[in-house]
Amino acid sequence: METGEYRRMDAGRRERVLAAAVAAGLLGAEQVAAGFLDVDGVRESVGELRTAFGAAPVLHTFAVKAAPLVPLLRLLADAGMGCEVASPGELAIALAAGVPVGRIVLDSPAKSAGELAQALDLGVAVNADNLQELARIAELVEDASTRSVLGLRVNPQVGVGSIGAMSTASEHSKFGVPLRDPGARKRVVAAFERHPWLSRIHVHVGSQGCPLDLIAAGVREAWELAEEVNERAGRQQVSTLDLGGGLPVNFQDEQVRPTYAEYVAELGAAVPGLFDGRYGLVTEFGRSLVAKNGFTAARVEYTKVVGGRRIALTHAGAHLATRTVFMPDAWPLRVSVHRPDGVRRLSGEEPQDVAGPCCFAGDLVARGRTLPRIEPGDLVVLEDTGGYYTSAPWGYNSIARPAVHGFSTAGGGVRFATVRRRQTPAEVVAEAGGDRPDALTGLDSPGDPG
Ligand SMILES: *Cc1c(COP(=O)(O)O)cnc(C)c1O
Repeated sequence: METGEYRRMDAGRRERVLAAAVAAGLLGAEQVAAGFLDVDGVRESVGELRTAFGAAPVLHTFAVKAAPLVPLLRLLADAGMGCEVASPGELAIALAAGVPVGRIVLDSPAKSAGELAQALDLGVAVNADNLQELARIAELVEDASTRSVLGLRVNPQVGVGSIGAMSTASEHSKFGVPLRDPGARKRVVAAFERHPWLSRIHVHVGSQGCPLDLIAAGVREAWELAEEVNERAGRQQVSTLDLGGGLPVNFQDEQVRPTYAEYVAELGAAVPGLFDGRYGLVTEFGRSLVAKNGFTAARVEYTKVVGGRRIALTHAGAHLATRTVFMPDAWPLRVSVHRPDGVRRLSGEEPQDVAGPCCFAGDLVARGRTLPRIEPGDLVVLEDTGGYYTSAPWGYNSIARPAVHGFSTAGGGVRFATVRRRQTPAEVVAEAGGDRPDALTGLDSPGDPG
């Protein structure tokens, strides 16, 4: 770590990992795409997060939707982290990873009655999204005791970042109880008075595209609300503040920016009382913990020139970089080009399109990008895809979900472990109703009622 050798994914280290992956048979003519996760980098990112918060009492959770992979969650749990989950599936994944229930937080804007009951039964912390959900929780709490920490998500309505779809604290966001609407704050304060077990305030201002001062402004609103509730209660009713996640990631180059240290400094300036020890804190980072600790590699099958435009037909497309393909301005990715043996190509730059295998014309992960000339058999690498990419596939064209491999270069050499196998054709068929091929053919001809 001191040498800076694994300061995230620098080009030299990635080249080494890629060459080792080819040599190990993890990429090639039949292994046409794979995701890679940097175990050393993940541990280092967790370390930076912990160091940034210092001695403050914090439960750091990982937002599972950023990379719902059981071995990764176990790695994070091993490093002391918990999980933020937002569906029964994510909860099951966290439990399968062995994350202690006391380190799991359930957030989601639309939890069913059954989900809530399960969470309270397990003792998983729950943040209610709205006052209707809070009323449901109140009924459950009155019926049976629970170890769950219970909170309420508020929307501080502090504004939006540069990507509307990623901004959860806008005036009209679907998330949380708005604080600035007429009468809303009063209703929130009354809810805390009515429910003495309600002990947490949750805020998550947003994700990619939200600047630090916007996130800090949202946290300040949550903290002020907690102070108001506690003052009225005459006790520390709100004992923990869940600050959400949302640290943006730099997709332009290798640098990690902003850093967790910068985020904590911003929080300290905007909300000095946050770190005075009266509040336990929860964080829920996703993208910033994993994005730069992963990349996706895909094989180039063919190249062509069409209308003067050079196009590489690769296995990196919308099925694994959905947001990038559909919202290229909001989610651009760096692309690098490697020879079939993994060695990086550096010379002969020219504008090229990097197209995927999906059957629609817009399936391009890069357009007119100046890159070394791509040749058939090459590998293209999509950088910074450790979060929300390889594990957020899109089922279009029923392309098998690629494998995800973890790697470590600690101690020299490159060691790999498969985190998730490539989906098999049988699994693709099973997902497509393959266990009931006759479901429809007989539906319109009811047999003899006899
Ligand atoms: C998505 C989400 C997060 C994680 O956001 P990142 O931008 O990945 O850090 C945290 N909390 C909640 C409630 C979320 O919905």
